[in-house]
Amino acid sequence: MDMVTILSYSERIDLQLELATLANEITNKLSGNSISAVIGYGIKDKVDVLSKNFDKVFVIDSEDLKLFNPITYANVLLNIVNNTKPDIILISDTKRGGAIASALSALLDTGCITEVTKVELVNDDLVIYRGAYGGLGLAQTKILTSPKIIAVKPGSYPRPTAIKNGIIEEMKVDIKKPEIELVEFRAKETGARLNESDVVVVAGRGVKKKDDLQMLEDLAKILGGVVGCSRPLSADLGWCPTWVGMSGVTIKPKLYIGVGVSGQIQHIAGIRDSKIIVAINIDPTHHI
Ligand SMILES: Cc1cc2nc3c(=O)[nH]c(=O)nc-3n(C[C@H](O)[C@H](O)[C@H](O)COP(=O)(O)OP(=O)(O)OC[C@H]3O[C@@H](n4cnc5c(N)ncnc54)[C@H](O)[C@@H]3O)c2cc1C
Repeated sequence: MDMVTILSYSERIDLQLELATLANEITNKLSGNSISAVIGYGIKDKVDVLSKNFDKVFVIDSEDLKLFNPITYANVLLNIVNNTKPDIILISDTKRGGAIASALSALLDTGCITEVTKVELVNDDLVIYRGAYGGLGLAQTKILTSPKIIAVKPGSYPRPTAIKNGIIEEMKVDIKKPEIELVEFRAKETGARLNESDVVVVAGRGVKKKDDLQMLEDLAKILGGVVGCSRPLSADLGWCPTWVGMSGVTIKPKLYIGVGVSGQIQHIAGIRDSKIIVAINIDPTHHI
């Protein structure tokens, strides 16, 4: 790869900034341009911070984008792709980002790797890393087609310090009426942003009653942290909106405290980069 063009998209500005770190890491090594796309309705105020971290920011602001539809958003991105001819497309691997990445991959008939945690440049080629075997291993992969679509797990890269003075360009796109109509949109309770806190106290199945979560909330409050759950407490019992682990949120806090968590590999995959790991458990063999 000589000159590279990298297009980044996330529906969340904080994650766009994480993508900026990766995009700029690559464009600093190979020369090239980092571009970001901001898509939605009433989003123009969000672009300033991005122009300080990307060479160019495209803004597509339209009432037709008020309700999220992955195919519509992928089609808008396709317009930007046709316009900028990127070599690499970075998308944050949120629920929405994952849906857009796969739809865009189909529209462009190109390779896409999801749940990516690291991208390395080796002899001018990208080596893309993602977890394998439930977090026991790390798969090294390559995309052989172009553009390469890489869906990056939130929290995999730090946010950059502003270094650019990028151009902001509003773009008009013909937005096709989607083939699927969204009848109603109801926001889900998201709870605390687990991957943004220095201290995370996680409740596992050892916490027997929902009311006992209050003890963990009290502990988290004293430590200036937040409370999360293992998957069974969230997915099966519905006590927390999200869970920590391989199929949930990846966290890297300074302090992780697992209360009644057995430390199954799928859970550990999401916490293994925590600085200090404390386990509170009645079974001494169930340590994390
Ligand atoms: C494809 C797949 C993806 C998955 N992804 C995730 C994921 O992202 N995150 C996740 O968490 N799980 C995930 N799981 C589930 C995972 O395999 C485990 O089932 C889960 O992590 C176990 O949760 P737990 O530790 O809360 O419960 P358990 O394994 O039941 O452990 C409960 C623990 O509490 C202890 N305990 C009991 N009573 C007390 C007490 N009074 N005081 C202190 N300790 C006590 C026990 O000794 C035990 O260690 C996934 C599974 C699959 C198949």
